[in-house]
Amino acid sequence: MTSRGFTTDIVHADRAFGTEHGGVHQAVHSSTQYGFDKVEDLIGVFQGTLKGAYNYARQGTPTTAALEAKLARMEGGLGAVSFATGMAAITALFLTLLRAGDHLVASRYVFGNTNSLLDTMAGLGVAVSKVDATAVAHVAAALRPETRMVFVETVANPGTQIPDLEAIGALCAERGILFVVDNTVLSPALFRPAAVRAGLVLHSLTKTIAGHGNALGGAIVDTGLFDWSAYPNIAQAYRKGDPRQWGLTQLRKKGLRDMGASLSSQHAHAIAVGAETLVLRARQASETALALAQFLESHPAVARVHYPMLASHPQNAQAIRLFKGGSWLMSFELRQADDCQAFINRLRLPVKSTGLGDTRSLVIPVAHTIFWEAGAAVRADMGISDGLVRLSVGLEDAADLLDDLGQALR
Ligand code: PLP
Repeated sequence: MTSRGFTTDIVHADRAFGTEHGGVHQAVHSSTQYGFDKVEDLIGVFQGTLKGAYNYARQGTPTTAALEAKLARMEGGLGAVSFATGMAAITALFLTLLRAGDHLVASRYVFGNTNSLLDTMAGLGVAVSKVDATAVAHVAAALRPETRMVFVETVANPGTQIPDLEAIGALCAERGILFVVDNTVLSPALFRPAAVRAGLVLHSLTKTIAGHGNALGGAIVDTGLFDWSAYPNIAQAYRKGDPRQWGLTQLRKKGLRDMGASLSSQHAHAIAVGAETLVLRARQASETALALAQFLESHPAVARVHYPMLASHPQNAQAIRLFKGGSWLMSFELRQADDCQAFINRLRLPVKSTGLGDTRSLVIPVAHTIFWEAGAAVRADMGISDGLVRLSVGLEDAADLLDDLGQALR
């Protein structure tokens, strides 16, 4: 099985995992609780002696478990835990694995709600340093003896900055620090963070992996590369058995069971169906996005285009070395920032919407929407100008999108 290709593996994963009646998909298991013929088995579930049985859907169902198994294979990891949303996954990550007095180093260029959550963590006593992670030296300079975690996004939303992934991975490995990579934008179709020694990989499944804008979800995959036996924040109750499972166990018990932001079976199913076409979509969207980025860069009304596969992108060499494509995410600035809203109104195809990684192209003025609450100072610090437009490139025919951008710019 392991030698099979990525998509072959995904489309046959449900049957390999085990389905009922020969179904080619895992069934949507809607029961909230699971019953047993013998009370000893019910007790065994609670005491951990009966393995592989389900108990209460907040802690997982066969449908979420099948998706988790698929995600782990996709990222080349040893297991995964799914959540109701990407933000639920990030919240569980921080609250489960960090304690007051710990220090967290995060990229300064992260999704706006993640940035806001970092401030919440600071209020709970976790010291947070937000650094420009495009250079490993900034991360290294921020490290302290109590640094437990370094958190970055593979391609930052919306500015497309790329952290110094290989060097940060090597630094974290050398110092025994947990390296967490939010791989929402690229997805494992274009890049696996295990290749740069990330210990945990995080996803908003809502975006690239589902790909159809029909289901919210999030997940954390353990790559198996981090040594949990040396991590001081694993509770005594979970320090037993194979240490490689300790992190996932704590995330599942403390993060999923106790915090309760569980993925529904219905949404897990919708995400799993979307994941079957992940590689095709990621490839197509990357190809179209590059054509649009090149067109925009050559247009006199456009001041700047942020897209990893453009030679003008500051981390282009790294993107070419590590990624199989640039993804659907791009942003650009018009020469006249005041024209940004009129320009967006003139677009006919991209939907004016906050979403990302959808079948349809989606467009949004960044400063006035997703980064409005952050305020002018944070926007300036993150390099988000008033005229910044974010485009999530969908699966429309490239020629139609090029026509549309051309007429709106004219
Ligand atoms: N991580 C990244 C990089 C995102 O872009 C988003 C949402 O846009 C999230 C996490 C949060 O995911 P969700 O919307 O599923 O909560």
